[in-house]
Amino acid sequence: MKFNTKAIHAGQKPEETSGAVMPPIFQTSTYVQEAPNVNKGYDYARVANPTRTALEKLIAGLEEADQCACFASGCAAMDAVLKKFRPGDHVIASNDLYGGSYRLFREVFEPYGIAFSFIDMTDMDAVETARTQNTKLLWIETPTNPLLKVADIKQLTTFAKEHDILTVVDNTFASPYLQKPLTIGADAVLHSTTKYLGGHSDIIGGAVATSNTELMEHLRFQVKTTGAVPGPMDCYLTLRGIKTLHIRMQRAVENAKIIAEYLDKHEEVGEVIYPGLPSHPQHKIAEKQMEDFGAMVSFTLKDDATETAKEFMSNTRLFALAESLGGVESLINHPASMTHGSIPREVRYKAGLKDSLIRLSVGIEDAEDLVNDLKEAF
Ligand SMILES: *Cc1c(COP(=O)(O)O)cnc(C)c1O
Repeated sequence: MKFNTKAIHAGQKPEETSGAVMPPIFQTSTYVQEAPNVNKGYDYARVANPTRTALEKLIAGLEEADQCACFASGCAAMDAVLKKFRPGDHVIASNDLYGGSYRLFREVFEPYGIAFSFIDMTDMDAVETARTQNTKLLWIETPTNPLLKVADIKQLTTFAKEHDILTVVDNTFASPYLQKPLTIGADAVLHSTTKYLGGHSDIIGGAVATSNTELMEHLRFQVKTTGAVPGPMDCYLTLRGIKTLHIRMQRAVENAKIIAEYLDKHEEVGEVIYPGLPSHPQHKIAEKQMEDFGAMVSFTLKDDATETAKEFMSNTRLFALAESLGGVESLINHPASMTHGSIPREVRYKAGLKDSLIRLSVGIEDAEDLVNDLKEAF
């Protein structure tokens, strides 16, 4: 099956008792058993729920994984993965990770004795230098937030395999429509389904897809034991959202390209960061490992001042000022004061994150209306 067909059908079959085309919302906490431990594969809803199973099969299908485990949020999914490691183990992650991932690693897992190196993952020498005898995990986020750096998945996973290191790719920004890390060599893919998979800014969810049976066993144990699971209604909404993933992504990417080109020519704009522009430092890598360049666009202003950026953002009408991304509606945000506000200014600048940096999550509205909205804001 091709991707567009899978988005509708992967792992989905009509419900057995009624023929319902959509999987029902199985709003139940427990399941009747014929005899102790003789059941239809479900005994208690923390462990498993048929609506969740349908979602897990669908995401596994899209990522070309054997299995998937769904969680109550992207952060809960990361938490479950990281619990595979033990004090003394070492993890290499990129230095411009999603803020919530950075916080989880630094403030929850570091105090438990797991060591982290945060480095520029686009620099292979830095990765090699960071590796120790105890390195057990390479945490790859690509494209990153908000600087849209693109890490070479093939190169990184090849290196990791040589040293027996597990690789997880946070594929939230690309979605499986644009990038399938498992087919490039990654061991597992993680999603905040809150973003493109759900696609309508109406749920919080997470998922890990993998064909690594040992990792999946660990994840299923975490699901059962710590129980950060999504409710059936959220699973249903995510299933419903995924059915249009390919159409939404296609339109959002088309719009993002038009906007990136518009901004690139604008005299008040400093730098436009979009993997689809030939000026992007990893444009060639993006071309190689992604089907297309995504729908996130970041840019700076020539007048690189927080106040100027804030004024610009208060002038847009369609682009709504909000955190998050990946929904049908366009959003605008100011990393320096919002998502990355807690990072000292010199550290932020060193990482390339300027005061006037503005991040757009381009939605699926009419491109001309979106460009006009930006035009008026200037
Ligand atoms: C949002 C996000 C997360 C965290 O997911 P939640 O669903 O908000 O817990 C992790 N990684 C990336 C890249 C994200 O954008």
